Order: sequence, then C-alpha cells, then structure tokens
Amino acid sequence: MRTLILSDIHGNLPALDAVLEDAGAVERVWCLGDIVGYGPDPNQCIERVRGLPGLQCVKGNHDAAAVGEIAIHAFNYEARASLAWLESELSQENRRWLAGLDERLELDQVTLAHGSPRNPVWEYILDLGSARANMQMFTTQLCLVGHSHLPSIFIMEESTPQSTRHYGLTVGESFTINRKSILNPGSVGQPRDNDPRSAYLIYDDALDQWIFKRVAYDIRQVRDRILAAGLPKRHAYRLEEGW
Ligand code: ZN
Repeated sequence: MRTLILSDIHGNLPALDAVLEDAGAVERVWCLGDIVGYGPDPNQCIERVRGLPGLQCVKGNHDAAAVGEIAIHAFNYEARASLAWLESELSQENRRWLAGLDERLELDQVTLAHGSPRNPVWEYILDLGSARANMQMFTTQLCLVGHSHLPSIFIMEESTPQSTRHYGLTVGESFTINRKSILNPGSVGQPRDNDPRSAYLIYDDALDQWIFKRVAYDIRQVRDRILAAGLPKRHAYRLEEGW
C-alpha cells in the first residue's frame, strides 16, 4: 500500500494539485494540518483533502485559529490579517469539518501531530532539545509532524532520547526507518527551506520504504492571486524564494 504524507498546504491549491499528480496512485493519505492560512484557496484545499482516499488528518494551528479555537492575537500581524480574511471566506461546512479534526492521532504504526506529540497544535520541533524532549511523548516507533515547514528527521540512535540526531532528507532517495524517529515531510504550500518546490513523502509499506519528493508548481499564479485577494504581500513573495 502506498501512503502519501502531506503537511502545511496553507490554502495553496496549485501546489496541492501538483503534489497529488506527482504522487500518482495512493491508497492512503496522512495529512499533518494547516490546510488553510496564507494562501488564496482555503475552501478548495479543504474540499480536495476531504476527498482523498483513506484520509487521516490532524488539526494545525492555522486550522484551529480559523475556527476560533486559538485567539487571533497569538499570531503575528501578517498572519492575523490572513486569518481575518479566512473568517469571511470559509464555508460553514468546511469550518465544521476543520473544527472536528483531532489534534493528535495514534494509528497502528505512527503517531500524527501538527507541531509535536507533546503539544500537538503549537510546539515547533526545530532542534535537538525539543526533539529529545518529545521522544518519550509517543509510543509508536514513528511520529510524523509538520509546522516548521522544514523537511528532516530526528532519529534516536540508541535507547535514550539523548542519543537523538538530526538529519536532512535527500530528494528522491528511499530510506527505511528502524529506530524511534520524528519525521517532517516539509510543506506543500509554503516551503521554508529555500527550495520553493512543494515537499511531500511517500511510504510504501510492502517495501517498508520512505521517499522524500519535491515538485514544482505555478508559483506566479498563486502569488498574483494572493496579492489580488488583498492578503499580506510577504506571503505572496516568499513563495518564490521558498522561505
Ligand atoms: Zn504551517
């Protein structure tokens, strides 16, 4: 069975569609949250995700804020502006669907959380300190997270969290995970690792192999529509630079 792992779509439908086409046939999709926020297509992205096969999806901080679960003043000025725009754009039904998402899911072999297993909606795992502190906060071998928009893996090399190391992911290279790990696929709709292409993962359970992939999409079209919607300009221009 092939599983597609997506995170941080952020209302960017051309990026999501490029990933879905590039991924090919999958039987299952794990989505790590932040379907909305920043981008011009929040309803369309939610509807596309809702229609994906075998979907398991957790709630991100932007999803929670969009449905009023996080106070808008917890965000910076520009994120607040895009959240205010979202309020007026989101359909009732999509709002209800976002509100009903779990913050953390434990499946047979993996735990899914947007930020971290310890504080699923809000905490960033950016360094060894936060990764080590989170290693004992889930019981599966693997925890998948998003939120930082930075593709990478933290691996517990021996039996203690202190042995955790941090590695980047190489595009197109398959790998196997046989130690306790926290894996981040990067972002579909707003990459921040200086590569503007959409990032995602595929897991093939017959081969027990993971593969990290990137795909280009029509960034200018999205940039122009962010500007035309009156959303913060920085969220438009940063897409071309991938940060
Ligand atoms: Zn995000």
